[in-house]
Amino acid sequence: MARIGIAGAGIIGCATAVHLIEQGHEVTMFEKDIDGLPASVGNAGILAVPEIDPLARPDMILSAPKWLLDPLGPLTLRWQDLPALTPWLVNLLLSATPARVARSRTALLGLMRQALGAHEDLARMTGLSGHMKQTGALTIFDTPKAVEAAYRHESENAALIGYGVEKLDSTQARSRVPALEGQFAGGVFSSGYQTFLDPLSLLRHLQAHIRQRATLVDAPVDAVRSDANGVTIKATGHEQKTFDKVVISAGVWSRDLVRGLGLKVLLENERGYNTTFSDPQVTLELPVFFAEHGFVATPLHRALRVGGAVELAKPDAPANFARAAAMRQKMRRYVPSLPETGGKEWMGRRPSTPDSVPVIGLSPNDPRIALAFGHGHLGLTLSAITGRKIAEVLETGPSPDLAPFSIARFQ
Ligand SMILES: Cc1cc2nc3c(=O)[nH]c(=O)nc-3n(C[C@H](O)[C@H](O)[C@H](O)COP(=O)(O)OP(=O)(O)OC[C@H]3O[C@@H](n4cnc5c(N)ncnc54)[C@H](O)[C@@H]3O)c2cc1C
Repeated sequence: MARIGIAGAGIIGCATAVHLIEQGHEVTMFEKDIDGLPASVGNAGILAVPEIDPLARPDMILSAPKWLLDPLGPLTLRWQDLPALTPWLVNLLLSATPARVARSRTALLGLMRQALGAHEDLARMTGLSGHMKQTGALTIFDTPKAVEAAYRHESENAALIGYGVEKLDSTQARSRVPALEGQFAGGVFSSGYQTFLDPLSLLRHLQAHIRQRATLVDAPVDAVRSDANGVTIKATGHEQKTFDKVVISAGVWSRDLVRGLGLKVLLENERGYNTTFSDPQVTLELPVFFAEHGFVATPLHRALRVGGAVELAKPDAPANFARAAAMRQKMRRYVPSLPETGGKEWMGRRPSTPDSVPVIGLSPNDPRIALAFGHGHLGLTLSAITGRKIAEVLETGPSPDLAPFSIARFQ
């Protein structure tokens, strides 16, 4: 049994804590904002196993200049933050070569193949059931050419993981999701997706499980340091505490903690916006991606959530909720019955690396420190498998399986 400290109680930190508790360790978890609504609660609620393509791809880089011209479009940049974002952006461009894309895809594929099984295990360990639904997802497009291209690409991805895809014309798509009354060319249905009915309840359930079996401290970690006696955590308002091992899982804020350990990382936040309608009059039978516009609508438990898109900005820059309104307006072209009012707006920070590959593994400087952050658009999907991998690697030492996820690539 080891004494293990964890910085950050988002979905990644919580999934890790559950595994460590299961192994019999004495866990102390620190969270800077225990009632907060980080990315882990406001996300789209989708187990997105098919999504093995990194953000940095040749087609994305070609589309980016056009998107950047529209301040409310799928991708925007807060230009005053450009100097701070430049190293990450340069690395994003360098990550878009065919060889680097292939490398990121292989890394993500390896995790995605285990993602669903790991969530089933996490549910078993924490007594959860009925929180996920095998919905599949529909992606709709405005032109037949886009439907065809997406179908070809999705079929290739599906063959790698083992799920089904179907090409649908607009009538067939509408028969699955009748609220899609507007004009579109057709879509691709993929059975590889599942829906979490309520990401907020999921996180609170995991936190309650941890609170009953471990210590959850409501305070920000200011610094992590290690020496021959152990790894210490200094949290605001608390005495410094020494652990045998420490996990850093503080979302985008992990970068400050790892820099304090002398490690470099390229980690920025891709901010996303959404609107959640409670007990809405309009329902969707399954998540619908509006791929050409960069957002998704998910039917959650007694709610409909509409949002996504990417805003590159410093984490603490003021939110621009006009982006949430723009996505609602675009969605009304396809779903005219989407309510005009009554939704709750939210902004969240995806902790993102430029190659879309999360950092999962041990610090190259100190195997007593584990790193688990940078899951970008896929942290809900990859949380359970990340927790399992971190618990394994803290037990057994460095693993070649985790080499693609090492922070060593940024040193
Ligand atoms: C609009 C949007 C939609 C998304 N949809 C999906 C989806 O459908 N499927 C999917 O798989 N993923 C989705 N994601 C991505 C997913 O939500 C994130 O990747 C994931 O939540 C990241 O989890 P995390 O625990 O690393 O970070 P966070 O959720 O940011 O949690 C980090 C926690 O650490 C705490 N913390 C920070 N600093 C400190 C400190 N110094 N001391 C103590 N605590 C600290 C924070 O308060 C926070 O609670 C979406 C994200 C967004 C924004």
